[in-house]
Amino acid sequence: MRLPRLFLIAFVAALCAAPFVLQGYSLLMLNYVGLSVIVVLGLVLLTGVGGLTSFGQAAFVGMGAYSAAWLTTAMHWSPWASLLAGLVLTTVVALLLGWVTLRMSGHYLPLTTLAWGIAIYLLFGNSETLGGQTGITDIAPLNLLGWKLTASWQFHILIWGVVLAIIWTVHNMLDSREGRAMRALKGGALMAEAMGVNTTRFKTILFVLAAQYACVAGWIYACMQRFVNPTPFSLQQGIEYLFMGVVGGIGELWGGVAGSFLYALPREWLHSHLPALLGRSGSFEGVVFGVLMIVILQRAPEGLWPHLCRVCQRRAFAPGTNASVGVAALEARPKPNKGDAILALDAVTKRFGGLVANNAISFEVRAGEVLALIGPNGAGKSTLFNCISAVNPPSAGSIRFLGKPVEHCDSRRVAQMGMSRTFQHVRLLPRMSVADNVALGAHLRGKHSFVASAWRLDRAQELRIRATARNALERCGLCALEHVPAGSLPLGSQRVVEIARALAADPCLLLLDEPAAGLRYLEKRELADLLERLRDEGLAILLVEHDLDFIMGLADRVVVMDFGEKIAEGTPAEVRRNPAVIEAYLGGVDDAGDAQGEGVKA
Ligand code: ADP
Ligand code: MG
Repeated sequence: MRLPRLFLIAFVAALCAAPFVLQGYSLLMLNYVGLSVIVVLGLVLLTGVGGLTSFGQAAFVGMGAYSAAWLTTAMHWSPWASLLAGLVLTTVVALLLGWVTLRMSGHYLPLTTLAWGIAIYLLFGNSETLGGQTGITDIAPLNLLGWKLTASWQFHILIWGVVLAIIWTVHNMLDSREGRAMRALKGGALMAEAMGVNTTRFKTILFVLAAQYACVAGWIYACMQRFVNPTPFSLQQGIEYLFMGVVGGIGELWGGVAGSFLYALPREWLHSHLPALLGRSGSFEGVVFGVLMIVILQRAPEGLWPHLCRVCQRRAFAPGTNASVGVAALEARPKPNKGDAILALDAVTKRFGGLVANNAISFEVRAGEVLALIGPNGAGKSTLFNCISAVNPPSAGSIRFLGKPVEHCDSRRVAQMGMSRTFQHVRLLPRMSVADNVALGAHLRGKHSFVASAWRLDRAQELRIRATARNALERCGLCALEHVPAGSLPLGSQRVVEIARALAADPCLLLLDEPAAGLRYLEKRELADLLERLRDEGLAILLVEHDLDFIMGLADRVVVMDFGEKIAEGTPAEVRRNPAVIEAYLGGVDDAGDAQGEGVKA
């Protein structure tokens, strides 16, 4: 995950040269671009990484700016104290907004941020204390160790220093256990929570961080301008920040930087040159600019930066390194002995209104065995799987895992206890490397927070997590593919990557939801071999399956369900001969020999 070093050096060198080359308005423009970059980097985190949309970032910029303006003029605070106060206020507001909306999916957050953006703009414009539409003037100049910051070049250093610091810390954070958890948000709450990721916590962190970056940009803006009015903090500006990110490539840090340049500079150029070109004045630049943006997004839907990187045949981030080779994997938990019952269902019942999807189901799963749960479509297998993996609690009955009741635990808790799962429809993060996807499975086995990772204080732990992921990949025979984006693999390999991700959590029980669905014959054979190896290592495997042929040679025991009831339990050979099973699968063919010969399938 490294940007080509040459580019980075050239970029920093250009920034260093700028105060000597650019003067007056040009340098001021560059400062404004830098302030936009700070806000847009927050949006890269929020929207690009977390998949959450906010139109209200300009309002947070306004909070930073008005904190500086009002506290330094009316209250005579130092600008630095006003920054602290602004950050505290922003954090409180972001936490409040997040608390109200982040638990809900869909359009609630964008709508709330829209309302928030409008409300705060009106507040600035209508509050006499804040100077109404005229705003506040005579903001105290910024002092740094007795050094007054007033010139553009001084702010140039401050602004771009902040930008580089944010890029460095965010880059570190994303390349860590907590960063993987943040990126997992895009894979949906079901997958992330099953990996032990507290999705509400991470969404809140991203929302607060984005708001704080915006607040810092606003505070610098006020100190630089030394006056504020409501105009730069309108909803339109909030939308423009989002636009900058999208145009540049909101999925990547440098996309955010590129977007701010690509948005601000052409706009400024059009603003000053278009009237002369057209021979008449008016706001034509808005129209031309709008058309230009549509063309750009049509040609490069992921944004210009990823497009540019592809054109240069170089990915924005070079592949990860093998620094974890030779590092010890994380310590494994003590495992139950082979043959011990580790999961026990007792009369588990699940009702959806009047429909009984599971009716008093009881069975056990033992360490070192493969138990297959089979049944025709609609039999209630997935519902039971969801009860066991704590996605949905049962309506009645008890589920004990390693001797402890888990029927009312959440999926993070059961993951922590040693139950790992895969999904019927593969849920990998397609753009993330195979190694990163697998490392996400070890999330609960690490400790360091996102603050520690931002400052690279988590490197020893990170190397061990990576070594653990590599170990899991080795067990599954996928080591050669560790740096490949997961989305580029065929379905059979993606299913195995999901199993490796589950193994990285060091489970005692592996839950597999239709692992052979959509696989070809050879892929099924390889998968069966892998599951046999894992079973021989002492792992308990519970798999929901549709395809009887697949489980016949693999499962030690089979539980058969139909219409929510358990209709049979036994060895594969026993259930295959069971008339109730033949009836359920083939609708009344009473010749078991026929069923065997044809390979009974759902
Ligand atoms: P299987 O996985 O064996 O094909 P399911 O567990 O998906 O079966 O479904 C069992 C029954 O429960 C079906 O009749 C299905 O329509 C019903 N069902 C499953 N999930 C829900 C739900 N969330 N709400 C209402 N009914 C559901
Ligand atoms: Mg199902």
